[in-house]
Amino acid sequence: MTTILFKNAKVFTGKNTDFEAIDFAVDTESGRFINQETKAADKVIDLKGKYVMPGLINAHTHIVLDPFFKIGGLSSVNAVKTGAVVNTYIAVDNLNKLLKNGVTYIRDVGSSDNIDLQLSKLEKENKITAPGIIGSGPALVMTGGHGVELGLESDGVDEIRKNARTNIKNGARNIKLMATGGVSIDGETPHDIQLSVDEMRAAVDEAHHKGYTACAHAQGTEGIKNAIRAGVDSIEHGIYLDDEAIQMMLENDTYLVPTLMAPWAINQHPDKLPDFMVKKSLAVQEAHIVSIGKAAKAGVKIAMGTDSGTAYNDFENGSSEELEHMVEAGLTPLQALQSVSVNAAELLKIDDYAGSIEADKLADFIIIEENPLENIKAVQGDKIVYKKGKKVE
Ligand SMILES: [Zn+2]
Repeated sequence: MTTILFKNAKVFTGKNTDFEAIDFAVDTESGRFINQETKAADKVIDLKGKYVMPGLINAHTHIVLDPFFKIGGLSSVNAVKTGAVVNTYIAVDNLNKLLKNGVTYIRDVGSSDNIDLQLSKLEKENKITAPGIIGSGPALVMTGGHGVELGLESDGVDEIRKNARTNIKNGARNIKLMATGGVSIDGETPHDIQLSVDEMRAAVDEAHHKGYTACAHAQGTEGIKNAIRAGVDSIEHGIYLDDEAIQMMLENDTYLVPTLMAPWAINQHPDKLPDFMVKKSLAVQEAHIVSIGKAAKAGVKIAMGTDSGTAYNDFENGSSEELEHMVEAGLTPLQALQSVSVNAAELLKIDDYAGSIEADKLADFIIIEENPLENIKAVQGDKIVYKKGKKVE
């Protein structure tokens, strides 16, 4: 056992409300934080003047997608056409980018060929160095519904139930459902209602029976309410939240995963993307920001997610830039840091072993130069990253 004591840093553990002078220690073999008093450390690292926080958790990614279309054609539409080998290559590259940029755990919410599930297994067995992955496999979508390229068409309660069970059998620890249309696909709107309450409830039941979660892509108001009624653990995007939807989320303890990066990234590249996508994206941006701000002020629990993989929505600085957008929308910097640590861990049901700097939890943390509670941009740019107690090179 090799132990390292980290001294003199200011630390946000995930559980405190400010960066405090806390010394902490890791065991590089178990990859966990340890109680520093148990044994004199083999090595001491002085972090005077530095800030430490838990590794970032991103609750909404699509690792099989190349946001810059360098390999093949247009983003999500391309995933199935490029095939499993190419998509696995893209996924591994994206995981490396995430890890280098401080993301130590993700929830992937729509993949092809169960690539997320298989990479999740390898990471768990310490056979690859990557962020931990809660995988969903293919999303469950209605026939012709949103995200069919990364989904399984499923109609009616029985078929949804069967496909949810199949995903779980293959290793899914979350079921992704499509409650509404969206921005990235032509011929539908964010307001379109897609899977019904009964269909979604069947999948939610199957996930919950196993102690796992279900989440819904839900953008329009009615679809959002349908998903909450069905009992999903989180609403993804939540573009058009009215007061009733916010109240329902509070009553049902439903998380919100905003993904403000998704429309923002499209809106930075209007000349390079199809008209339909840019038009829809510009139309939702303002409502999205207002919704997220209102939900944050009302006390809805928020977990950070980016939707990385959609057009120009990168796997590098995207997660830390999302925090900046969240603060601009009205979250306090503390809410933003909680959304990317303890809250996301709770949503992913990994909070018993990840998401905070405490003895026995995975030693996933980042070292940065400035206090992000004073300037949220401090999380962006170069940082030192530790995954399971080892420095990411
Ligand atoms: Zn998505």
